[in-house]
Formats: sequence, C-alpha cells, structure tokens
Amino acid sequence: MDYDLFVIGAGSGGVRAARMAAGFGAKVAVAEDRYMGGTCVNVGCVPKKLYVYASEFSHAFEDARGFGWNGDVPGFTWETLRDNKKQEISRLNAIYDNLLAGVNADVINGRATIVDANTVEVNGQHYTAEKILVATGGWPRRDHRPGAELGVDSNEVFDLDQFPERILIAGGGYIAVEFAGIFNGLGSKVTQLYRGPLFLRGFDQDIREFAAQELPKSGIDLRFNTIIDSIERTPDGLLCKLSDRTEMVVDQVLYAIGREPHTEGLGLENVNVELDDQGYIKVDDEFRTSEPSIFAVGDIIGGMELTPVALAEGMSFARKQYGPQQKEVEYDFIPSAVFCQPNIGTVGFTEEQAREEFGEITLYKSSFKPMKHTISGRDEKTFMKLIVDNASDRVVGVHMMGPDAGEIIQGIAIALKAGATKATFDATIGIHPTAAEEFVTMREPWTP
Ligand code: NDP
Repeated sequence: MDYDLFVIGAGSGGVRAARMAAGFGAKVAVAEDRYMGGTCVNVGCVPKKLYVYASEFSHAFEDARGFGWNGDVPGFTWETLRDNKKQEISRLNAIYDNLLAGVNADVINGRATIVDANTVEVNGQHYTAEKILVATGGWPRRDHRPGAELGVDSNEVFDLDQFPERILIAGGGYIAVEFAGIFNGLGSKVTQLYRGPLFLRGFDQDIREFAAQELPKSGIDLRFNTIIDSIERTPDGLLCKLSDRTEMVVDQVLYAIGREPHTEGLGLENVNVELDDQGYIKVDDEFRTSEPSIFAVGDIIGGMELTPVALAEGMSFARKQYGPQQKEVEYDFIPSAVFCQPNIGTVGFTEEQAREEFGEITLYKSSFKPMKHTISGRDEKTFMKLIVDNASDRVVGVHMMGPDAGEIIQGIAIALKAGATKATFDATIGIHPTAAEEFVTMREPWTP
C-alpha cells in the first residue's frame, strides 16, 4: 500500500484526522480539490464571524448616541471587508498546509475518486491505502424554480462583486438567519422568507417565537409561509415573484435552504458504501462504513453539522485506528449558536424534547431589557430559559437569545455536561452586573 490512510477532503474533520493519525505514526495523504480548511475556514464559520463583526458596528454607532457620542456615522465599503476577509482566509489556508506538512502528510491537490476499497484516483494517478477516510462535507442545496440560477448560495455570497443594497434571503435555518443579520447590519434592505409558519425548526419553541418577534425590530422584513416562485433579471434588478402573489425587485437573492451531503463524483458506486435516505454516508460507532476499509466523519455523515463535531469525530477516528483507545464521541449536550443580532445560544433538550424524554419538567424563563439598552434606547430584549428534569433536578436544557449568547452558553454547556442540577445553579454566585447572572438567579418556576 502507498499509504496507511488516505483522507478525501481537507476540511475540519479530514485535516484533524489526518494530523492525528500522522502524529501517531501513520503514513497519510490528504486529497483536496478546492481550498484547505474546507467549509468552516473558507465559506463558513470563519468568514461568517468576520462579517458578523463587521455588521455589528452599525448597531454600536447607533447605540453610542445615547451614551453621549455624536457625529457622522462612518461609511461602509464592502470591497474592503471582502478583501480583508480574503487575506485572512489565505493566511489560514497556509496554516492548514503547514500543519499537514509539519506531520509529513502528503497533500494532493485534485479531486479524488474512490476506485475500489483500497484505491483512490486523483488527477489520473492511483494511490493505494489500507484505509480511506471520506470527509468531503456538505454543499449548499440549490433551488430549481425558474430563474433560481440568478441567485447565489452561501458559498458564493461571501465574495459578491457588488454590495447588494436590497437582498432577498430564502431559508429559515442557521445560514439564512445569520446572513439576514449580516446584510441588515451592513446596511442592506433585507427580506427573509421562510417556507413554513415559524423559522428555526429544531430550536426551542420559545426561542423561535422570541426570535420572530425580535429580529424584525432591527429592520429585517421577515415573512413566513412564503417561497420564491421565480426570478427574472430586469433593468432595475432581480424581479422576484413570491408565492404570496407579491413581487419585489432586489439586487441579490441568497438561497440558504439547507446543505446536502457532498458525495457527487466520489466514486461511491464503485464500493459497498451505504447511504441513508437523505444521501448521508452511514457509519458505525467507529465511523466505519459498510465497506470495512472505508470510514467517514463530519458533515458527510449528517447529524449535527458543526465544525467542533467534525473535529471530535476526526480525533476519535484517528485515536481508535492509530493511537490509544478512547471513548466514543459524546453527542449529548452539544451547544451551538446562531450568530444573529443578538445571538441565539442553545444547549441540551428543547422543552418539547425534554417533556418527551423526562415527563415532568420545570421551566424557568426570563425576559428583560439588557442594561446597555436602558441608555442606548434600542428596543431589544434578552430571553433566557432553563429546563429542569423534576426527578433528578438536573438542568437538561438552556436556551438564550441575547448579546453574547454564544459565549455564555459555551460555559453553561460545561455545567450541563458535568450534570449540574438546578440546586447547583442556585448555589452559584452570579457575576454582577452581567446578563449571564440571570441564569443563577432564576428562582420562580414559570407558570403558564
Ligand atoms: P438548515 O438546515 O439549518 O436550514 C435550512 C432551511 O432551509 C430551513 O429553514 C428549511 O426549512 C429551509 N429549506 C429547506 N429546503 C427548502 C426548499 N426547498 N425551499 C425553501 N426552503 C427550504 O440549513 P443551513 O443551510 O442554514 O445550514 C446548514 C447547517 O450548517 C446547519 O444545520 C448547521 O448544522 C450548520 N451551520 C451552523 C452554523 C453555526 O453553528 N452557527 C452556521 C451555519 C450553518 P424547514 O425547516 O422547513 O426544513
């Protein structure tokens, strides 16, 4: 065999698995046909967060007036943001290259196709490997209604040539909500359409309702039960006909209608790798597919499609195959955040799931105006919710929408993983004055 391990895809999961396996002494190759670092580094978490930072300045400029700051609001130049972002991503791409070079893993630039259970072809050359790891991630779903090709997806939106003064965003998940916040903060007129009655499916119902009430306050035109029927190019811009029989003309349409497993052209038909009914690769506890020499980690296997999950899976795979044994990835209490303004942060069970899992639960809820906005004048509220299993007193779900919810919920997630009870929360002294202290001072159960 040429290699012990051949990794297809240099994203979060693939690179972490490759680095660790090589660190344990395996001879490793990684094939990548696009960019080092995958979705997260190039068209996901990293550039998204940079754009979120950019979008927050406009809110800060407005808020500052109440605190005595006055003068003109500075202008915004999209090209500067976009190009600075590009530079930072190039720096990160190089770091990823160096990380792999540092452990003597071979990086092969090109699209890899699986030829048989131990052979991969890249650029016409065949490589044999004892094990193959598929870590090709996901790809934005495209719409196929008339004119949908005139819109962009979440890969393309980062590098628009021109800043869209008017943007229509289709979708009601993480990406749609985050980009609605980004473009709204940067100064676009944003309309967001969701096909169902309430967006952010999968999140706690209270959070979904709270977000639906809060996000339009900053200027986002949020519409439910609506899709884009067709798009036409006109001299004024893109004419979008919507399912509610209204029309609008915008400069850009962003489709953020989910992501699909990126298996196209992988050559899976040449081997015995089973897919589930949504096209994700099926794996067992050690990330082995139904073809014993082929493994898969990250977004390509579905589940919670998050970078830290892919990293954990990559590490677990490498440790199990090449290093000291370790426990399986623990999929409970995985926190996540939606980086809208303000953030949504969540960990553990939603109320609906907790009722089903534990039966008797107690809820604690709090909604308040953050201290900063008493003077800024901004009409924005924070919402927090604790879900407690009555039988054990364990806190099994924590949900928040408010400034820095992503940062706050990360800390709370540690407590939940450690099995913290409501009594532990109550016995914890708060940090005053913060919003987070509310989590340890919610005394009265919520009653309908
Ligand atoms: P999501 O699955 O979160 O949301 C997809 C949205 O598109 C849903 O509202 C869905 O509606 C809607 N939708 C699906 N198909 C159609 C269609 N044909 N027409 C109209 N609407 C449609 O996907 P995203 O693309 O937003 O994000 C993908 C994943 O990436 C996330 O689930 C998350 O795991 C990860 N991610 C994480 C982030 C973070 O951690 N901050 C940020 C961005 C992405 P419905 O609910 O009705 O199915």
